[in-house]
Amino acid sequence: MPDYRFDYHPSLAPLRHEDCHAVYFWQEKLLLPVNAFDPWVKVAGEFPEALSLGLGTLGEMKLRCVDLAECPEGWRALTLREYLLQSTEMQFRVVSSASQLMYWARAQNFCSRCGKPLEFVGNDRALVCQFCQHRVYPVVNPCVIVTVYRPGEILLARSHRMKKTGIYSCVAGFVEVGETLEQAVRREVLEETGLEVGEMRYVGSQPWPFPHQLMVGFVAEYKGGDLQIDASEIDHADWFRPDALPLLPPQQTIAAHLIQAGLDACRS
Ligand SMILES: [Zn+2]
Repeated sequence: MPDYRFDYHPSLAPLRHEDCHAVYFWQEKLLLPVNAFDPWVKVAGEFPEALSLGLGTLGEMKLRCVDLAECPEGWRALTLREYLLQSTEMQFRVVSSASQLMYWARAQNFCSRCGKPLEFVGNDRALVCQFCQHRVYPVVNPCVIVTVYRPGEILLARSHRMKKTGIYSCVAGFVEVGETLEQAVRREVLEETGLEVGEMRYVGSQPWPFPHQLMVGFVAEYKGGDLQIDASEIDHADWFRPDALPLLPPQQTIAAHLIQAGLDACRS
């Protein structure tokens, strides 16, 4: 596709159906017409909509995201994971933004302070209570994700959820209130594996819409301690040499990127 630029619409207020392409959801799945894979779709008629939000612009295209009351006949419904792990960077960005807004807005019907209905406002990407002025913004939950390395080896862990697939990945966890990203990395690695880390380096980040995470990625040098996993969080963890790696996460994930960065670091 051409080198489009994606910009957020200044308001979440619904845009006119006739002016826009839409990203359609139904029961938390992404809807696509048969044979289409781009998630931005323009349809001739109107479908029964449960919720519609302004999303942004992609090049010259105005975008909104829409929660449909039913799946149109002949369309496909894909889980977010199914779609995002096959998507391009721009498709990922648009769908991850749209799905996070929809998930959030569906759960924000009433003011948590006074109980009155929340409404869209002018040029602010928020919902507002007109009675007490309480303002609710979309949620972003920061998480750290890290590959720990030492000479010739990297640390990989398998979660209980991944036991069936056999995929090993990085250590990850939510940032606590009042904590820096670096403190979160040290705490998560220690809690989950019993290891201490020394120097660390920021590598990159990735929005992860399950439902509202921002994964902030690091590589960190092993400093000390013996591997002792927290069995409530992790099924198995071990040190792996670059020539004897287990099954790893898909290429599109930041975990795959961080594992590569850890492998580069452990060789140098
Ligand atoms: Zn209120």
